[in-house]
Amino acid sequence: MIPFRNEPFTNFADPANKEAMKAALAKVKAELGKEYPLVIGGEKITTGKKVKSINPGNLDEIVGIQCQANQELAQKAVDIAMETFKTWQFVEPHVRANYLFKAAAEMRRRKFEFAAWMVYEVGKNWGEADADVAEAIDFMEFYGREMIRLGGPQPLVPYEGEDNHLYYIPLGVGVVIPPWNFPLAIMVGMTTAAIVSGNTVVLKPASTSPVIAAKFVELMEQIGLPKGVINFLPGSGSEIGDFLVEHPKTRFVSFTGSRDVGIRINERIAKQAEGQIWIKRLVAEMGGKDAVVVDASADPEEAATGIVQSAFGFQGQKCSAGSRAIVHKDLYDVVLQKVVEKTKALQVGLPEENYAIGPVVDENAYNKILEYIEVGKKEGRLMAGGGKAEGNGYYIQPTIIADVKEDARIMLEEIFGPVLAFYKADSFEKAIEVFNNTEYGLTGALYSNDREHLEYARKYMHCGNLYFNRKCTGALVGVHPFGGFNMSGTDSKAGGRDYLLLFTQAKVVSERF
Ligand code: GLU
Repeated sequence: MIPFRNEPFTNFADPANKEAMKAALAKVKAELGKEYPLVIGGEKITTGKKVKSINPGNLDEIVGIQCQANQELAQKAVDIAMETFKTWQFVEPHVRANYLFKAAAEMRRRKFEFAAWMVYEVGKNWGEADADVAEAIDFMEFYGREMIRLGGPQPLVPYEGEDNHLYYIPLGVGVVIPPWNFPLAIMVGMTTAAIVSGNTVVLKPASTSPVIAAKFVELMEQIGLPKGVINFLPGSGSEIGDFLVEHPKTRFVSFTGSRDVGIRINERIAKQAEGQIWIKRLVAEMGGKDAVVVDASADPEEAATGIVQSAFGFQGQKCSAGSRAIVHKDLYDVVLQKVVEKTKALQVGLPEENYAIGPVVDENAYNKILEYIEVGKKEGRLMAGGGKAEGNGYYIQPTIIADVKEDARIMLEEIFGPVLAFYKADSFEKAIEVFNNTEYGLTGALYSNDREHLEYARKYMHCGNLYFNRKCTGALVGVHPFGGFNMSGTDSKAGGRDYLLLFTQAKVVSERF
């Protein structure tokens, strides 16, 4: 088998790629506004309750209309997933992996089209949408290979007179609750990791990005994945979320989203439901309050570029986003000035037209971020942005607040929007202390040319993904296994060698001869 390699990103400076993207946007535009059913055991089910998925960059545009499940249908989905598990668990690992490889190949062929759906549904610009598709392909290629590795013979200490084997067997029916911010990549990664390990799933897509998830479910049907392995169940958290999570027959929950929802799920699954014969497993990725630290020895130009990319890529709506810049006092003014200049040069506009900054995802996010900007204005000095931006959507100016204190709310709370707090550190050690002063621990970056400081940071910056002299977003599958500490989640590493173990349990069979 060809060794895993990351899917390359598309160079949109190449006119052919630009044309291909425009053509895909036009094709998808003609398909906007359609209705999408639930899919349970391969059966397409239309329901009376429907939710519109709106383009956050153009509120007059309906991306799709998604049918919503109720509890009865959630029960049906769990029943079918359980039934399908009886056979799917015994499908050979390499056969399961092959479905992922086929899906990856098909997605690669339709790369621009998948990217275009995300441009309309969540407001990604071309580069962000393309990276999202590339990561989805990577997850399938990577987890397929991982399952083949885990499905092969596992090393055990030889023992005279016995034939011993260890098998990684699946858990059962999983509930997969992905986020809207990487609506293809993370949704695909979470779903395919679970199924390639031999589990069956109920997939409840994020309510702001159901259409791209429906497109993935269509793709899996097209490549011939057996019915009932993925059951597509959009619906509101209050109607079906707790029901699925607490259901006695669901064996694990894989969740990516906010800290509060993650904590709630953790609480709910801890209680044994009637008829439940296992301790449920939770795989959660929950957020961050990440920072870029700039040491006195750093190159201010490079650091400023990294800060801007980390803070404002996809409007700061990444749990990896660097929403704090912690800068040594010697470079503070120069780095701040450069960051402000670069930020002011970012143009805000329609994702379809590939502006650097697009809208935030929905009205709730919009209002929450604007409130945080008001909080920030009281906590520091407004240097750029500061409120709404023009456009028929949820546009917000990329905003910088300087001279904030270490205990300011905008230094501690996850905003999930284009808001950057600047903190002046008196010493390198103080900068690291402030970096660690959050309840999260997902990503971080340090710009420094001082070997001792880099080594100090290697030990003391407490986060799951730490980057030196580069931005703190954009982890690559297999290269930078992704996931963090403390309130950032359950310390899992998506795109890493340990990840599939979270969806399996080990069985040892020992035969005397
Ligand atoms: N893996 C993404 C990155 O490294 C972030 C994922 C997320 O925001 O959930 O930027």
